Amino acid sequence: MRCVICGGRDIKDKEVEEEIKVGNDIIIVPVKVKVCMSCGERYYDRETMKMLEEVEEKIEKKQLKVELMGKVLKVAGV
Ligand SMILES: [Zn+2]
Repeated sequence: MRCVICGGRDIKDKEVEEEIKVGNDIIIVPVKVKVCMSCGERYYDRETMKMLEEVEEKIEKKQLKVELMGKVLKVAGV
């Protein structure tokens, strides 16, 4: 396959951390996706998309155990 963004042919399977936003929380999900080595574009197959949707759903229903890794902080004003 060729990258639709840059036309590069160097696309590899890579483990990345996908961020899912649930309410005010950001959940990090490790997933394997195809990544273009030239521009960094990620390609998700149907199964990965489905998996991410399921994870999101499970988190909303609190069926999945998550771990607090740190906090996302927002600057209140500069
Ligand atoms: Zn590319």
